[in-house]
Amino acid sequence: MVRRRQFIQDSFMAAAGTALLSSHGIPAYAADNLVIQYIREKIPAFEIPPYRGERYKDQVPDTLDIAERALLGINCLTGITDPLADREIFWFADFHRNPPVMVHDFSDWCQNVEGMMESLTLLRALTGSDLNSNVDKIWMETLLKSIGPDGLVYVPLGERPWGRLNHAWMTPVWRANGTTTDASDKTVAQLTGPALWPRSISAMIIYYLRDSNPIWTQAIEKMIEGMSALASDEGDYIFFPAGGYEPNKKFTGGLTADNQLMPTGYLALDGGNIRVIQGLAQYYRLSGYEPAKTLAGKLVNFARFHADAYDRDGRFRFSAYEKIGPEWFVEYSHAHGGQVTLEQIKGQTLGGHFHSHAVGILGMIDYAAAVGDRELLDWCKASYEWARMQGNSLTGFFPEYIVPSYPSCESCGVADMIAIAAKLSQTGAGDYWDDLDHWVRNQFAENQLTKEPWIYHLAESSPEKPVAYNETDHQVGKRNLGGFAGWASGNEWSLKNGIMHCCTGNSTRALYYVWENIVDGTNQEFRVNLLLNRASAWADVYSFIPYEGRVRIKMKKSCPRVVVRMPEWLKSGSSEPVCKVNGGPRALTWEGRYVVVGSAESGETIDLAFPIATGTVAETVGAVRYTMEVRGNTVISIDPGGRTGPLYERSYYRQPTRWVTVNRFVTEREIVW
Ligand SMILES: [Zn+2]
Repeated sequence: MVRRRQFIQDSFMAAAGTALLSSHGIPAYAADNLVIQYIREKIPAFEIPPYRGERYKDQVPDTLDIAERALLGINCLTGITDPLADREIFWFADFHRNPPVMVHDFSDWCQNVEGMMESLTLLRALTGSDLNSNVDKIWMETLLKSIGPDGLVYVPLGERPWGRLNHAWMTPVWRANGTTTDASDKTVAQLTGPALWPRSISAMIIYYLRDSNPIWTQAIEKMIEGMSALASDEGDYIFFPAGGYEPNKKFTGGLTADNQLMPTGYLALDGGNIRVIQGLAQYYRLSGYEPAKTLAGKLVNFARFHADAYDRDGRFRFSAYEKIGPEWFVEYSHAHGGQVTLEQIKGQTLGGHFHSHAVGILGMIDYAAAVGDRELLDWCKASYEWARMQGNSLTGFFPEYIVPSYPSCESCGVADMIAIAAKLSQTGAGDYWDDLDHWVRNQFAENQLTKEPWIYHLAESSPEKPVAYNETDHQVGKRNLGGFAGWASGNEWSLKNGIMHCCTGNSTRALYYVWENIVDGTNQEFRVNLLLNRASAWADVYSFIPYEGRVRIKMKKSCPRVVVRMPEWLKSGSSEPVCKVNGGPRALTWEGRYVVVGSAESGETIDLAFPIATGTVAETVGAVRYTMEVRGNTVISIDPGGRTGPLYERSYYRQPTRWVTVNRFVTEREIVW
């Protein structure tokens, strides 16, 4: 998300300067009866259809369960919303504060631009959960109210007391009279810009897929029209001028690549241009709407050939904009055992902010798949293969910034890599299911907040600090359960701060990508790609990994062919996997990395057993050398261990399989995402 580094340095100073103390969880602005003025008053009507599907209780091995993680995700997505401000999220949580707090500022809009609205609907479709379901409608109404007459999404700045705090990517602000100002100018009431557009289209596609209400497709097409009108068309590529725009803005000096408005590097990535591609590609895939394809295609050309964001091989370019304050990288690295020098950072041409680059690649994969562009897909694949070497490919630790010995990872980057691995594997561009299996089981699963007491122990070690006007300390632990870490190290949940909820937006969507890809069923074949627990209409999968090498599949529909991917530690062709169907032996044949079980009838149980690899490995994460105990692909202990929010406390996986009762939901219709 935006300006993380600067945020840390500035925001609390800014907040402290204007602090109006709140008393016990009731923010000071509650007394003001906050009424937010959006750009649009009247919005069309819509209803949210119920989440239909089959519901039942089941006993499953107590192993990583994406549906259970999705329930937690819903807890956080809805729990961090503010009932006094149209359920706007507190985008930031600080556990290194006493008391721990959640914070409002300009970046609350990561609710939209980092995909929280999109994720909430996806996770409800996955789980059938109606936890805090009042939030959904308010979010959808807010999105519609934020769409201006030109079709673009505007952020209301006027009434929200924190609205201008730490504004990012919004300079200059272009005004109707052709002059410029910036977002701290109190006369700017409504603001749009490319940094605020990403993922609105994606969210509305999902709404449309559920209710078939044309208000969403109309809004999307109007938005694409509005974007197209603003784009500076340079022939084979386009870009949106850097900064923010007021309604009816005018650009002085024309709109060309020569007048210094063309964003490059980080400004083109985090600043919004390149992030717009994915929603356009998704809409083209859904509808065949040509303007979406044209705009996305020209943005892809901008991203690849003009934005100075990637090199010709797809490697991430480290832009000057990302290097603001290189001393900070040195300090942070040194504080956690790194040895990087200022000269090294200054001389670095490749690297930089991981998530901004990776999410751009993700969008370009969706575009390549939608239009059948094999060359682009291969370029994205090359980018992925380079990016996977920049972190720890066993655990899925990808540094927030690619600089030597950077000590922490941002969950956004981990989520992007999981999403990219899934999509490249789906499209047949590569086979990365093993990568995905590693990362989901380790850094990704550990980065989700599943326990809260440690947060309060950590907070108590900091000096007491009053809660500011834009903060709350109300049930911060409970409300953030299911959120994803912003600054996790190899062994610790939070090296500093706590959560930037961009990470929750992107990671909860990644939960959906993982869940969607565990199995794949048609009338001809039931395929298991990932050996994880999963209920589905075709069969339910029970994974005993990593307690033991065992997977059970209970068929619900008869299927002429069942194929199951074998784990990485078994060689193709191995005679080690043993299969039984309803207790009777069944011969297996291998097809690549999969074993073919053959046909199975509804009601039959397939049991696959194989050895589980165990061992100890030495790995470097950040600048720290760790010893990790691994069962299968799962790290079950790490040395040295973390102290405040320790990761990989999983010694129970050495014991016999533990079982747990869960509520299962099998959706009537899956959203393909
Ligand atoms: Zn993030």
